[in-house]
Amino acid sequence: MNMAEPLNFTQLRGELRRDEPMSRHVSWRAGGQADRFYVPADLADLAEFLKQQEEKTEILFIGLGSNLLVRDGGFRGTVIALHAARLHPEMRDGLVYAQAGVAAPKVARFAALHRLAGAEFLAGIPGTVGGALAMNAGCYGGETWQIVERVETIDRSGSINQRKRAEFEVGYRHCRLNAPQEEWFVAAHFKLPPGDGEASRSRIKELLARRIATQPLQLPNAGSVFRNPPGDHAARLIEACGLKGLERGGARVSEKHANFIVNPQGKASAADIEFLIESVRQKVKEGTGTELIPEVRIVGEAR
Ligand SMILES: Cc1cc2nc3c(=O)[nH]c(=O)nc-3n(C[C@H](O)[C@H](O)[C@H](O)COP(=O)(O)OP(=O)(O)OC[C@H]3O[C@@H](n4cnc5c(N)ncnc54)[C@H](O)[C@@H]3O)c2cc1C
Repeated sequence: MNMAEPLNFTQLRGELRRDEPMSRHVSWRAGGQADRFYVPADLADLAEFLKQQEEKTEILFIGLGSNLLVRDGGFRGTVIALHAARLHPEMRDGLVYAQAGVAAPKVARFAALHRLAGAEFLAGIPGTVGGALAMNAGCYGGETWQIVERVETIDRSGSINQRKRAEFEVGYRHCRLNAPQEEWFVAAHFKLPPGDGEASRSRIKELLARRIATQPLQLPNAGSVFRNPPGDHAARLIEACGLKGLERGGARVSEKHANFIVNPQGKASAADIEFLIESVRQKVKEGTGTELIPEVRIVGEAR
């Protein structure tokens, strides 16, 4: 059907789609369909929507899909997409407040504008605040949870919870709530020290230039495929094993950055990409003895 359809529940104001191609919503531009795809109108609408979901329905929150692959057989559940261009960070009680659907680079620019330091690294991360929290996204010495004061989460009953940093187990590209129930991020409050706006803006420019020089940003990709092993770089190991340029279907290990897999024509299947991930993992293990662990999240069913 692939089209917006009227909601059964008059009190809902968001947009529900069925059989939505997830290739439209992930930066790899590949993969299968989600059975249901919901874009909430706002937080109250999201709460109402969650309340109406059956307990057995699998739910996947997404931001900009910049770290995500949905297998070709699709996702048998409901995807909830929070990103909205109309959302912006704001100052609240001396902290930078941003809803989960705010694009992460906006937080970097907003902080610089308000002469606050430490969020510059977010400028080059092409995801949302929600995705940055879930992944503890970071680069060039900065990490998302280093600057988090507290977050707001939502659960299946639609209740909003205030959660402190200490309630999460946070690590390298990892974050887990220390609680049995499932909760998703709806907002973050960032605590940033006073800085020099001009210095922050130059730092942002410098970090973005570094990315342009080293990453294949003009081709569909999902950033670094593997985590860096302790004391080393996944890209170095992949390159040392001669795997740059390795291809499968429409997918290829980038020549520019060995830890990126690109989908140059937008024609790769999720299976092509997953096959390449597995081949690289195996060959690096054989060649160097190091077990690479994927950083990208892969969900759904194979075809
Ligand atoms: C060109 C490029 C460069 C990149 N550079 C970096 C980098 O330097 N450092 C880095 O860390 N990453 C990098 N990434 C990866 C990616 O941008 C980050 O992981 C980002 O934080 C993902 O955000 P997203 O909103 O796109 O999340 P998605 O890809 O949509 O989701 C990623 C995961 O987060 C979960 N999630 C998303 N939103 C929520 C929510 N509201 N509540 C709970 N869970 C949620 C999803 O379920 C999924 O498991 C890069 C990607 C690209 C394409």
